[in-house]
Amino acid sequence: MSIRNGVTRYGITRPELEELIAEWDEPRFRVDQVWDALWRQRIPLEDATALPKALRTRLAEALPLSLDVHTEQTTPDGMTTKWLWTTSDGAQVEAVLMRSPSRATVCISSQAGCAMACTFCATGQAGFERHLGTDEIVEQVVRAQHASPQRVSNVVYMGMGEPLANYDAVWSSVERLHGDLGLSARHLTISTVGVVPGMRRLAQEDLPFTLAVSLHAPDDDLRRTLVPLNDRYPIAEVLDAAVDVAGAHGRRVTFEYASIEGVNDEIRHADALARLLRAWPGVGGAHVNVIPLNPTAGFPGRAPNRQRLRVFARRLENAGIHATVRRPRGVDIDAACGQLRARGPIPATPPTSDTMAP
Ligand code: SAH
Repeated sequence: MSIRNGVTRYGITRPELEELIAEWDEPRFRVDQVWDALWRQRIPLEDATALPKALRTRLAEALPLSLDVHTEQTTPDGMTTKWLWTTSDGAQVEAVLMRSPSRATVCISSQAGCAMACTFCATGQAGFERHLGTDEIVEQVVRAQHASPQRVSNVVYMGMGEPLANYDAVWSSVERLHGDLGLSARHLTISTVGVVPGMRRLAQEDLPFTLAVSLHAPDDDLRRTLVPLNDRYPIAEVLDAAVDVAGAHGRRVTFEYASIEGVNDEIRHADALARLLRAWPGVGGAHVNVIPLNPTAGFPGRAPNRQRLRVFARRLENAGIHATVRRPRGVDIDAACGQLRARGPIPATPPTSDTMAP
């Protein structure tokens, strides 16, 4: 067989599938049927009943999945599901499906672990294991789709890992999610801690994906205590690279701000952030997502109360900066931002609401 060694079900390209089907002396139209089931109908291969059973079995053996389910947890309302998968070499990968009446979003991992070491992030606390391959990244979305009663519409690269530290595999996954799975590029959000060379490369790409930048502080002195990478790429450089990306695609950039009580949540921080972003010349402007800190084992900080978060966001709004307070989702199954390495059973408490209410 001449297809790549170790090629997986969502890693095989269409030309490779054509070759495989030809080698097996199957009629050419089978290529369309297989492709249609995997990418257009988004159904598991076993359910592709348009294909003869023997062919399905043969395909399943030749093209294994790249992820084995280790655990799957769903909130009592059925709207949030978290998976922990194991790769063929034993690395752990996590993703979260978040549904609401209007959309279904999958939050996916780009690396097993992360080398960025942001102090408040569970993945950062645990360290780096390895990069994920394109197939392992794409398969997270497909597997979440198989479990979702709604069509998956949005993908955010906000699970484990720094997407731009694994640039090639991540960009290929964007191309496959767009080209093969048919997701709108605008609904694909790449979140970065500010890897400037990667951001410059993103500005050269032609798909109009959405960029999110994890800022968390309005000045370098504070930011470097939360985000070690700030020593390499300080705020001014990160913002400058974000201008490039915004200009390339005419898309508004989102700035993430994990709000930590007594650390970065005061009025003076909001004012400094507003000054910084008002002066930022990116096309489409800036949007700030204020995320209440999710608790992690290795960081002593905690989230401000809702009132304080609202005051912070309103202060930004009044200064002309769009801001949203994100309501945490999946905290009860350790599936919230920065918690994906945490472990624990599903408690009986009701889940948080899915709205992003200011
Ligand atoms: N490495 C990328 C993407 C992964 S994290 C990045 O840094 O953007 C996705 C978002 O969750 C980031 O904004 C990250 O800072 C935030 N996050 C991490 N840990 C968190 C925590 N404990 N509470 C709230 N947000 C957190």
